[in-house]
Amino acid sequence: MIKLTNTLGGKKEEFKPIKENHVGIYSCGPTVYDYIHIGNLRAFLTSDILRRALEHNGFEVTQVMNITDVGQLNPDSSSEEEDKMTKGLKRENKPITIEAMNELAHFYTEAFKQNLKELNIKSPTHLPKASEHINENIELIKKLEEKGFTYTTSDGVYFDTSKDAQYGKLGGIAADDSHARINENSEKKNFRDFALWKFNKNLGYPSLWGQGFPGWHIECSAMSQKYLGQHFDIHTGGIDLAPIHHNNEIAQSENACGCEFANYWIHNAFLNIEGGKMAKSAGNFLSLQTLKEKNINPLAYRYWLLTAHYRTQVDFSWEALGAAQTAYKRLIENVIVLGLEIGTPNSEYLNRFKNVINDDLDTPKAVALIWELLKDTSVLSQDKRATLVEFDKVLGLGLDTIHKVEIPHDVQQLIEEREKVRKSKDYQKSDELRDKIKNLGFEVKDTDEGPRVKKL
Ligand code: AMP
Ligand code: ZN
Repeated sequence: MIKLTNTLGGKKEEFKPIKENHVGIYSCGPTVYDYIHIGNLRAFLTSDILRRALEHNGFEVTQVMNITDVGQLNPDSSSEEEDKMTKGLKRENKPITIEAMNELAHFYTEAFKQNLKELNIKSPTHLPKASEHINENIELIKKLEEKGFTYTTSDGVYFDTSKDAQYGKLGGIAADDSHARINENSEKKNFRDFALWKFNKNLGYPSLWGQGFPGWHIECSAMSQKYLGQHFDIHTGGIDLAPIHHNNEIAQSENACGCEFANYWIHNAFLNIEGGKMAKSAGNFLSLQTLKEKNINPLAYRYWLLTAHYRTQVDFSWEALGAAQTAYKRLIENVIVLGLEIGTPNSEYLNRFKNVINDDLDTPKAVALIWELLKDTSVLSQDKRATLVEFDKVLGLGLDTIHKVEIPHDVQQLIEEREKVRKSKDYQKSDELRDKIKNLGFEVKDTDEGPRVKKL
């Protein structure tokens, strides 16, 4: 039994799937107008841990993540209301055209996928692009229009939130309208109403209402429906998306189908920097590339995030990240000295691991359990190794891939012995062992992540 904190209702609840043994997850993905930042990666890591935890519990998971690669392409809009794709094109001195938008999006989509790989985040089952689902958006808007939820102004087709008595049910924000008063569009009937389709005389996609682009929220409703059906299990995203974007998704999807949308809403807390949310708009963001340039292993960043619960805010500092990298290196060294042999997973530790992960994805306790296991002298090294391989199916810290090189048993023993003497600072003995290893045809190099072994 896995328990998750559902923003819808605000309580920790037992997870019950719609279809036995299967889970459908929709995760809001990136807008591909720039490199994503490490705060965004916290959101994608949360959905990865969720997916892996569900798989660990025996569920078959279908995970869908959208790629937002379409903007409104209105070069005359003011900088506050400018959409991200237009911003990206201007930043790179590219023309404001659909072709240039596609090119920009392709480049940053590939960079995003590379970031996922580096952070050991499993690729979602489907990564649909908004640009390839324009018709699905139009069909959904048509449905909402038929049901009387829309109206048209001079600049677009809008969703009429006053027609939806349930509007704003996620996170209890219905009473909080402060956000929507900014940039209020005088033609809107209610300040919370939002665009489903935006007109653009110069360029865009054809539609019944006129040439233009879909609004910012409709793509998630259209693509989740296409790949998961109208009613699915879990929707994820950063907590900043809950008040507007997710309430708008709910309003669109539930009113179009007359059914429920997602049963569980899982939101991660922010990664903060200098007291505020890390955000592109605030200009205080760091990319994974910057971490790598500072010699931070992406998996050390993953380790660091896992030492905090996904619902707790994390304050970025180089010191904290550096300490996490030191701990991560120590972890790898400890795993290396366990040896190559994989024994039998320890059932007591496996049970404890499952209990903490199933308690709302309590990764800090799971990480603590790794260290407890490593220190436990009553468990055999090969069984520790086997247990860690199981833990790593959920944590994804790369513990299962250490020592991919085929190393003969006698060489491995010498490497382990050398690690021990090196730790006790007996460098003379360590050099002797290095020579012995060399005579057997292997070279051992000491790196920050532990010994690296190469066949000579
Ligand atoms: P965006 O491309 O801005 O829609 O963001 C992609 C994902 O990253 C969304 O789920 C956001 O909620 C999430 N996100 C953005 N900034 C942060 C942050 N500083 N910390 C955690 N998650 C974030
Ligand atoms: Zn979304």
